[in-house]
Amino acid sequence: MSRFERPRIFRPPSEWMSYYLPLTSGCSNNTCTFCYYYGSKLQMRDIEEVKAEVDALHLYKTKHIGVPGMDPMVYMLANQWDGRRVFLQDGDALVYPFPKLIEALDYLNERFPDLERIAVYATAQDIMRRSVEQLQELKKRKLSILYVGLESGDDEILREIGKNATSADMIAAAKRVDEAGLDLSVMVILGLGGVDRSERHALATADVLSKMDPEFGAALTLTVVENTPMHDLIESGRFHPISPFQSLKELRTIIANLKVTDCFFSSMHASNYLTIRGTLPQDREKMLATLDRVLQKGDASMLRPEGLRGL
Ligand code: SF4
Repeated sequence: MSRFERPRIFRPPSEWMSYYLPLTSGCSNNTCTFCYYYGSKLQMRDIEEVKAEVDALHLYKTKHIGVPGMDPMVYMLANQWDGRRVFLQDGDALVYPFPKLIEALDYLNERFPDLERIAVYATAQDIMRRSVEQLQELKKRKLSILYVGLESGDDEILREIGKNATSADMIAAAKRVDEAGLDLSVMVILGLGGVDRSERHALATADVLSKMDPEFGAALTLTVVENTPMHDLIESGRFHPISPFQSLKELRTIIANLKVTDCFFSSMHASNYLTIRGTLPQDREKMLATLDRVLQKGDASMLRPEGLRGL
């Protein structure tokens, strides 16, 4: 078996205080044409290695003792961790074999009984592979929020970007999560339809996101990653990326059309040109007014500079 390589940290903004514990490296759906994980090789981490890291973390947090040979990253993360939240890496760690996932969660809870919440990225396919009862087993062990990338509500775009899931799959997965009582956070990507399908992408995304009706929604903005098909499409002039202000227009369309029950929606991710946040539906007018002010001024200095955007 090849040595497990600790993955780079990609996490949702709301997980900034979490400890990042890798169960996998890469993503089981490594075909998304815009994604850093495109072409990545999925690695499953040995459960004993996961437990050894949890032990090392526990020893360090309780007695400030380090274990020889342990990855220094463990201690770097431990130094800034408040002991409340854990984020399981990597791109879709819900793919980790279910009995081992339960074992890892039990071990974490045993060592850190005061944990408040455990979170994970998941694909719609990962969710549909699990029954409601299995998801409830996770929740009992504090894995209570799943972050899922819808990316676009438009099926043609979903197909073209290699998502391997349809909007109907996304809605079905959201229903299952809701039935199990876990929280759902759904990410969408502004600009994924390019200039040509900008409006259509935004409207379809608002529609599907409404049907998923998650507790949390997050907009990201397309960021071009080298060595991906999307990079090649742009370089060869076959995909026309939207401008920063067009991304705000898409954001406006999504917020204006979202029909959700109670959803904290934000564009806090570092890839966005403007950060807005609020709870929908009640904060809709306030959020739209902020966007309209910036759109009317058209002043680029009000936006996050290109060089400060991140993945
Ligand atoms: S499913 Fe998510 S993490 Fe995996 S390749 Fe697609 S966008 Fe990237």
